[in-house]
Amino acid sequence: MTQDVARIIASEPFKRAQEDLRLGHDRFVEEIIELTEIPAPPFKEDRRAEAYAAKFRELGLEDVERDEIGNVLGIRRGRGNGQMIVVAAHLDTVFPEGTDVTVRREGTKLFAPGVGDDTRGLAALLAFIRALDAAGIETEQDLLFVGDVGEEGKGDLRGVRHLFEAGRYREKIAGFFTIDGLELDQFTTGAVGSLRYRVTFRGPGGHSLNAFGTVNPSYALGHLMAGMARIEVPKTPRTTFCASIMGGGSSINAIPEAVWLEVDLRSVDAGELAKLDKAFKALVDAAVKGENARGDTANGAIRAELTRIGNRPAGSTAHDSTIVRAALSALPAFGFEPRTGQSSTDANIPMSLGVPAICLGSGGTGGRAHSLEEWIDVAPDLSLRGLYAGLATILGTAGMAGND
Ligand SMILES: [Zn+2]
Repeated sequence: MTQDVARIIASEPFKRAQEDLRLGHDRFVEEIIELTEIPAPPFKEDRRAEAYAAKFRELGLEDVERDEIGNVLGIRRGRGNGQMIVVAAHLDTVFPEGTDVTVRREGTKLFAPGVGDDTRGLAALLAFIRALDAAGIETEQDLLFVGDVGEEGKGDLRGVRHLFEAGRYREKIAGFFTIDGLELDQFTTGAVGSLRYRVTFRGPGGHSLNAFGTVNPSYALGHLMAGMARIEVPKTPRTTFCASIMGGGSSINAIPEAVWLEVDLRSVDAGELAKLDKAFKALVDAAVKGENARGDTANGAIRAELTRIGNRPAGSTAHDSTIVRAALSALPAFGFEPRTGQSSTDANIPMSLGVPAICLGSGGTGGRAHSLEEWIDVAPDLSLRGLYAGLATILGTAGMAGND
């Protein structure tokens, strides 16, 4: 255990913070339910964001605001050495408008879409703020609490991307937590990068009988997919690709005017992802050239339109960084056996920029995330140990004043 984290955990103020988390656990659960029942579909996080901002204000955070992209921001000042540690959770869910988000409670289990991913994380931030205040803890670095928009799917990390690319605090952020997911036996130090495209092949079309021989965008697409199947990628660093969704054409007796395909390219290594990207684009070009060489272009040639519909950068956080060492010290102190892993989360953005970042669960257990049957278990013992471990990791990273 690092000395800092050991001292923090043994300190009186930290014990008071734990006591506050324990006494406040019922309220924490009620807040999970309250926030879960405010829908936050992709690109429609406004209602939940406003409610969350109101909570930040009630808790006395400074400079509470919705930023230009819709994130909720609030500062808990530390000793003010000018640097900030971000503690974030995402507001959005994967569920479309109209989904029933009523929470059903069975014993210590809560069932509802989004209850764990990431509403438990949002409530955990509020519990952390209350515990820090109740214990009178001052951190060395300022804490910037964030409820961010656009983590899921086509949201494409737009909230956290904005925070780092254009946000007013971008120069000051020295570390980043996303509290996302539940279990703490694994936490994320590596960002799986992904590039997602929709490629559309267009041609002149024509009658299947009378225009036979005309270039056909379907054959270009077939050429592309057959080529993709033969791309060679390394097992380590893990690199993958997938031709996922496709469509097009208008009639069984017509040469299509357009066909399209969506693809997902991934790697934990930015260099490998760039190589895969290049190979994929070369295949798109070859598919166009190949079909135009094969077929009749008298009425027009095949052309490809490539639209990028997703971009999550790869990256990683060094295992000797303060934030990872703090987690590796704090988690075992509360009974967890942490392993480090890779995933695709809000932490991708800071990791890709070299800002130390991890994704940490908020505790408890659960399952069926991204499904209507999503559930979490808030049985106090495991749930609380998760919150204690999270708070200790945050303090081990931001530094606790008076803890020298
Ligand atoms: Zn999530």
